[in-house]
Amino acid sequence: MNISILYTLFKNSTGVSTDTRKIEKGNIFFALKGPNFDANAFAPKALEMGASVVVIDDIQYFVEDDERYFLAKDSLKMLQDLANHHRKQLRIPIIGMTGSNGKTTSKELMKAVLSQKYQTAATVGNLNNHIGVPLTLLAIKEQDEIAIVEMGANKQGDIAELCEIAEPTHGVITNIGRAHLEGMGGPAGVLKTKTELFQFLKETGGRVFINSQDPILSNLSKRFDEPVLYPAKGDFCEVTFMEANPFVKFTAEGSDTVFLSSLIGRYNFGNIATALTIGKFFGVEMEKAVEAIVDYQPSNMRSQLLEKRSNLIILDAYNANPSSMEVAIRTFGEMTGKKHKMLIIGDMFELGEHAEAEHARLGEIVSEYQIEKVCFTGQLIAAALAKYPKALYFPDPFSFRNWLQDSKLEDYLILIKGSRGMKLEGLVDFI
Ligand code: ATP
Ligand code: MG
Repeated sequence: MNISILYTLFKNSTGVSTDTRKIEKGNIFFALKGPNFDANAFAPKALEMGASVVVIDDIQYFVEDDERYFLAKDSLKMLQDLANHHRKQLRIPIIGMTGSNGKTTSKELMKAVLSQKYQTAATVGNLNNHIGVPLTLLAIKEQDEIAIVEMGANKQGDIAELCEIAEPTHGVITNIGRAHLEGMGGPAGVLKTKTELFQFLKETGGRVFINSQDPILSNLSKRFDEPVLYPAKGDFCEVTFMEANPFVKFTAEGSDTVFLSSLIGRYNFGNIATALTIGKFFGVEMEKAVEAIVDYQPSNMRSQLLEKRSNLIILDAYNANPSSMEVAIRTFGEMTGKKHKMLIIGDMFELGEHAEAEHARLGEIVSEYQIEKVCFTGQLIAAALAKYPKALYFPDPFSFRNWLQDSKLEDYLILIKGSRGMKLEGLVDFI
């Protein structure tokens, strides 16, 4: 099918959808195939739910005399091509962002800051892959003046592919850590994958923003023309990490005032600096940028603060990888404020052959701090016991829940962190 015909249909539609459960009247439905599903069979359902057009790629579901059906060679490719076609019509800056940790948090902070001056579009939630990026682009409206596109990667080449679709004009890499080591081919692969964004910008004359506090990233800066290095001395975003109990405080250009954010953890310091730098670059008044950061409230289990009786829980069960675990443990190790402290750590997934060593390393990191109770839960984290035998170990969530319930904790500061698949948020009810 011709892309310009589809684009005309898109312009007259209410948007696109790939999920029959979320279809809105007048949507174009793209039937995608995944490892465990084939949405081609849902085309009639999509039409029933109000879709105006369905794009399918399996001829057996094609209804020839129904003009609402479009047969593509590959529905996903069609979705990506449509998104790129749309992107090409938009004459606005598009900020691509990737990195091992803190993409969504930085993106939300950047959106809050840029919204002070511009009508800002941004990735919704975590839609950052080969499907999410096209959906993000197709949600950019004509009135939008700037857009932020989060890009995630599981393997080498992923970011390059997303850049071809989104054609960013500006790029931010939050940091280079040790996430998804399995698919990326070790730490060198992570670096290569993440810097595909900078490579794209180099080839297309875009601007890169480099966090000079990340040693690997700051090394890269020589390779680029006019990189924006931050935080720079004397710059407004020279954010000082004051103390960790528990919210990140920061100062801003030309003022001694200390501002209080609602973000926990030393690592959010970098996320704030990123957002302030982008805001400054695009001409957002410093005062308004600071206000946006101060007002920002984290959600969705990303370092969320919960109160349970006399206990304060930092719920960080959204995801985990070796580098985010390390900063989270170190931040927690330094925190005070309650009589007791308990650290709950679960498995980190997607580490392949690095799993045992990376889990064992967590045991070493924990042993550097005086933490009253340390609990390990899961199969992989057992490797940490060799380095920190004092920990309480619960191979399965059930025994752990019972133990928590019987412990009747009071006056504890508790950090809960593990990979998404561990669903550690389920423990909160038992504290
Ligand atoms: P995903 O790969 O799932 O999209 P992400 O990169 O978007 O993740 P966030 O969702 O912003 O990351 O944060 C997830 C968790 O990573 C946070 O709860 C926190 O523990 C940790 N984290 C956030 N920012 C940083 C950072 N700058 N450095 C290290 N860890 C961080
Ligand atoms: Mg994310």
